[in-house]
Amino acid sequence: MKSSSSLATLPLFLFFCAGAAFPQPPAFSGTSYLLLSHDPVFLEQLSGVSSEIYSSGRTRLVKLSVPLSELPPELAAKLRPVSPGEIYNGPAATGEQKAADPDVLAITSKVDARRLMGYAEAITMTGKRSAAQLDVSAASGNRLAMDYIANAFKDMGYAVERQCYRDRKADKECNIVARRKSGQAGAKAILVIGHMDSVGLENAGADDNASGSAGVLEMAKILSGYKADHDLIFVAANGEENDITGGYACARKLKESGELSRLAWAINMDMISWNKDGIIEIETNKEFSALADWVGAQARLYTKLEPYIAMPAWGSDHVPFLEAGIPTYLSIQHWEAHNPCYHKACDKLESLSWDYAAQIVRLNLAVIAGKTRLTPVRP
Ligand SMILES: [Zn+2]
Repeated sequence: MKSSSSLATLPLFLFFCAGAAFPQPPAFSGTSYLLLSHDPVFLEQLSGVSSEIYSSGRTRLVKLSVPLSELPPELAAKLRPVSPGEIYNGPAATGEQKAADPDVLAITSKVDARRLMGYAEAITMTGKRSAAQLDVSAASGNRLAMDYIANAFKDMGYAVERQCYRDRKADKECNIVARRKSGQAGAKAILVIGHMDSVGLENAGADDNASGSAGVLEMAKILSGYKADHDLIFVAANGEENDITGGYACARKLKESGELSRLAWAINMDMISWNKDGIIEIETNKEFSALADWVGAQARLYTKLEPYIAMPAWGSDHVPFLEAGIPTYLSIQHWEAHNPCYHKACDKLESLSWDYAAQIVRLNLAVIAGKTRLTPVRP
C-alpha cells in the first residue's frame, strides 16, 4: 500500500483523499541516497556534489554527481543507498475509529506540560552537553545533565545504572539507565529512550534534545505510579550527536545482559517541542510500518496530533534497536517545518511548545497503556 510506485501513479487521487498534498517519491532509476544527517554544515558540503530528487519531512533523497567512492569519507558515511519501496512520508493510514479507553485516558491525562518544561529547563541549563566535551572539564554540562537525570530517576524509585562505554574516546561516556522489574518471571520489557547530549553550545539544545530526555523523565514519573506486566527500561542516551554512540552502546550492553531479546518494542523521543502545524512524524523502517500505523491510530484517539509516518529510519537512537530487529519508532516534530534553530546556539527554551511536547508524551504513554497491563500502585 505504501509502495512508491503505486502511490506515484495516484497523486491527484491522494491529493483529494488526504486533503493535503505531499510529494511522492519519484520512480527513480540508478542509485539514490537517503541523507542520514540534516546538519546544516553537512547539507552545505553535499550541495555541490548532489541534486535533490525527493524531500518530504525527514525523508530526503539525492542523486550524486560524482561516485560515492570519490566523496570524502565523512560525507559518504552520511549517505545510504535506498530502494523506492523503502520510502514513505505522509499521513498515517486511517482505519476504523475506535472509542477512547477511559483507563488509557486516566493515564495520559496525568502528563503535565509544566513539569515537562521544568525537566527540560534543568537539562538545558547545565551548560554545554556534548559528550565530546567530557574531557575538557569534569564539571561539564554533560556530566551535570547525567547527574540531574540519575537523581530524578532515583527520586521516582527506579534502580539507576550509569551505563558507561569506551566506544569513541579514552574518557568514559555514560548513558543513564533506569529500570523497574515487573516482578513476573520471563516478563517482556519496554524501552523508552531519548538523548541528553547536545552539539555543545552553551545552555542550548533545548529542543534537541532536552525536550526528548525530559519526555523520558515525564513518562517515567507517571509510570512510577503504576505496576506493569512488562519490565520498564528508561534510557537518557549520551553521544547521540557523535554517531549515536550511546544508543549503539546501550543496544550492545542489553544484548550482553540478555535483556535485548526480551524487548517487546522501543520508543525514541528526539526534538519534540517545536510545533508549527500539530503534525508528528512517527519514523521506523518498512518492516514495522503496521506498528507505526497503529501508533498513528493512538495519536488520533488520545491526542490532538496529526500523525505522519516517515520511512526509512535514520539519525537517532531508534536506529540501533531497529538494526537489532526490535520494533521501534521515533517520535519527532514535523520535519518539513522543523525548528530553525536546529544545531544552532539559538536552540533555547524560548518559543518552544510544551503543550505540543506534552501531546507527544501522551501518545507514547497511550502506546504503552495499549500494549501492557498497567495497574495503579495507589487507588
Ligand atoms: Zn537529537
